[in-house]
Amino acid sequence: MNESKQMYLNMGISEKVFDLSEKIWCSLEERFKRIDAVSEYCQLKVIDAMQKNRVSEACLLGSTGYGYNDLGRDTLEKVYADIFHTEDSLVRPQITCGTHALALALMSNLRPGDELLSPVGKPYDTLENVIGIRPSKGSLAEYGITYSQVDLCKDGSFDLEGIKNAINERTRLVTIQRSKGYQTRPTLSVEKIGELISFIRSIKSDVICMVDNCYGEFTEIKEPTDAGADLVVGSLIKNPGGGLAPIGGYLAGKKECIENAASRLTSPGLAKEVGASLNALPQFYQGLFLAPSVTANALKSAIFAANIYKGLGFDVFPGPDEERYDIIQSVTLKSPEALCAFCEGIQKAAPVDGFVRPEPWDMPGYDSDVIMAAGAFISGSSIELSADGPLKEPYNVYFQGGLTYQHGKLGIMMSLQSLVDKDIVRL
Ligand SMILES: *Cc1c(COP(=O)(O)O)cnc(C)c1O
Repeated sequence: MNESKQMYLNMGISEKVFDLSEKIWCSLEERFKRIDAVSEYCQLKVIDAMQKNRVSEACLLGSTGYGYNDLGRDTLEKVYADIFHTEDSLVRPQITCGTHALALALMSNLRPGDELLSPVGKPYDTLENVIGIRPSKGSLAEYGITYSQVDLCKDGSFDLEGIKNAINERTRLVTIQRSKGYQTRPTLSVEKIGELISFIRSIKSDVICMVDNCYGEFTEIKEPTDAGADLVVGSLIKNPGGGLAPIGGYLAGKKECIENAASRLTSPGLAKEVGASLNALPQFYQGLFLAPSVTANALKSAIFAANIYKGLGFDVFPGPDEERYDIIQSVTLKSPEALCAFCEGIQKAAPVDGFVRPEPWDMPGYDSDVIMAAGAFISGSSIELSADGPLKEPYNVYFQGGLTYQHGKLGIMMSLQSLVDKDIVRL
């Protein structure tokens, strides 16, 4: 459309970047149809769960103080349980982030003397403190809970022999991270997760199989709990919050696992009965309602980025035609200048703080400077368009989100324009 083209030009996009983007975008029509089909199914799943549980206007009101008999909170937890096909769930603004939700799941379902196993390699960075791989106050290690890890094989497959050998009489909980996070291993499909769980069960039937579901929700028709997981855990400022949830985390799974977690989050004896929802419920409900379509928009943005940058000769992960089970896209930019230019472009497309220029900084917990681009309505939200990367070889940028695909598309066009303006890419 000419009006849109004129807007792009006004916003600093050149004819060449515009033409290339149009060409790539048009070539993705069939791919996008498949994403829309998944999103359509998930949308129906969410609406069906809301209707079945009789979500009403009264559910949006919230509570204060102890939060006894909070209808909206209790109903939302039934809705989540239905979506994930589980016995129960815990969905709370008192769960401060994804790491907290995962820590809660682990600390409440493991006891001194138990062992935790990760059969898919190193877990997400922040869990190293939770587990005590990096010594930390209050870690599982301090409570006498040990940890064992089996890395994936070089080709990304499960090391079945290694996993079999690692499982012992103390193995109580297995943690499986669905998303690659910021690593370069493949993201696990629900089908693959199901195969792994079946294998683990064949060796030890009573082990708790937990899945770190961050970034994976609604990217497929099925969730890990449809493939045998006892417990899934995630953050509400990623996919399931739909960009509206201002805080929060969720756990969905077996009744006993959820009861353990609730007893730890609040207090033994109080468990799920307390925990005021304050004013968060309208955004929790509406965000969940929007989540399937927001996730689809983020996927389209990631696929667009992969196709643009692969075409320009950059390594991209996942590849442009690969199936996707999470919303993260990485691009190997090969130089610090390119990494910074990319992030500057993403920032320029932001509705909030679009006028600032991101700069690398020495972020705590990282062994090199990190640059981050984010102009989000919810601070730190990574379902909103954002990009970050450590300033070290091979200068990978990790890009995710986009509440609307139009914004994701603009962000990628701006990133490319920024690389072109700095003469790093020639069109
Ligand atoms: C984001 C994420 C986490 C941690 O969530 P925070 O909200 O950042 O604490 C854990 N695991 C995976 C795979 C993630 O993507």
